[in-house]
Amino acid sequence: MESGKRSLSFKIMVALVAGILVGLIYTFIPEDLKLFDQSVKSFLNDNLLQGIFLLAKTWFINSLKLIVVPLVLVSLICGTCSLSDPNKLGSMTLRAGGLYLFTTGIAVILGICFAILLEPGSGVSLSSHAKPNAEAVSVFDMFLNLITQNPFYSISELRPNMLQIIIFAILFGLAISLSGEKGKPVATLFESMNEVIMKLVTLIMKVAPYGIFCIMAIVVSEAEWQKLMSLIKYFLLVIVVLIFHALVVYPALLKIIANINPIAFLKKFKPVMLFAFSSSSSSATLPVTLEVSEKRIGVGNSTASFVLPLGSTINMDGTAILQGIATVFVAQQYGIDLTFGQYLTVILTATMASIGAAGVPSAGIVLLVGVLGSVGLPTESIAMILGIDRILDMVRTVVNVTGDATVATIVSKWEGNFSDKTFNDPDAGLQYEAEKLKHS
Ligand code: ASP
Repeated sequence: MESGKRSLSFKIMVALVAGILVGLIYTFIPEDLKLFDQSVKSFLNDNLLQGIFLLAKTWFINSLKLIVVPLVLVSLICGTCSLSDPNKLGSMTLRAGGLYLFTTGIAVILGICFAILLEPGSGVSLSSHAKPNAEAVSVFDMFLNLITQNPFYSISELRPNMLQIIIFAILFGLAISLSGEKGKPVATLFESMNEVIMKLVTLIMKVAPYGIFCIMAIVVSEAEWQKLMSLIKYFLLVIVVLIFHALVVYPALLKIIANINPIAFLKKFKPVMLFAFSSSSSSATLPVTLEVSEKRIGVGNSTASFVLPLGSTINMDGTAILQGIATVFVAQQYGIDLTFGQYLTVILTATMASIGAAGVPSAGIVLLVGVLGSVGLPTESIAMILGIDRILDMVRTVVNVTGDATVATIVSKWEGNFSDKTFNDPDAGLQYEAEKLKHS
């Protein structure tokens, strides 16, 4: 499985570079040589890029869009079902849930502020025919329409209303779990559906290299150099904010709230970060996060075993940062000034999307389609961002798992089951962890 994942990242890299090269070569081919003659034109459109490449690009982007609504709906319903398990309700849920929301809020706002200040997408004016009609929704209207009159309508619109879908999913999930035994079959059904949808995401990601190849070839051949430059700016900005969140925000919270030495914490947490980086999946990293948090850092077992699995499902600060920056970036590329109400919508939908995102590779970028759609930005713009997302995915997964362990540590301190002895012992749990990793 591991090698499969690696080979996908590798394929995406190769596709990216190959697409750029093909696009460059295409730029230098004389115009009349590019055009197809009349006999093939009716099948393949005007030329290769406007024909086969455009077709592959559109299919790929549409397949991403088609997965968004089922993904958000089903994964949020499943998440709410398990969250409201009566045994798990209580002070820990409130404390952990509150902290998770708090750190995710900081993450999106941080992303948005950095993107507004550093303007990675400015200086690129996308062609007017592609210009979307981003609606300026007032804050009041946004609240007014939070609850849909008809969930099937919200789901089936071409531009689905993500906020309405999210609220409906949470209500539905709660109702399932409150129905007790009678609700169980429905919960099981949604869990199975979740599995199937995750499989669909994996399938779609399998063809991502081809989609990305075509997208890059088209982008480069249209010589949108400013666009490429701004993509590099975007990439660097996301990395900087992710690192800032992991190395400044979390350490500050650990020090201020729990009086924990953040440097010692990060040192002990390093193997988890490496695992998250190479797997791009907080769920796959969970066993290692649990191991290190309990045996090396000293988080109490009862806290770790509840707070960490919850975090790996609902707490994705790195993902929220990405969504905040990416949305502002796309708006800047289209020369759209987002209104206050739209920023608020982005904060809400990005927070919810990061909660709804499963801890698997590329979940965050797929849900970005929904966040962009919530403020009327063109979802096509995701195509370019996708090309460089594999690396960003690795870094944001590191942030996601670091956030989980930070919150677990603070909650453990609050609950009074944190072991200072384990934390202060540099060798605590070392042997155990090394042996486990060797055998896994
Ligand atoms: N890969 C991330 C994770 O598992 C989710 C995402 O794509 O943002 O934490």
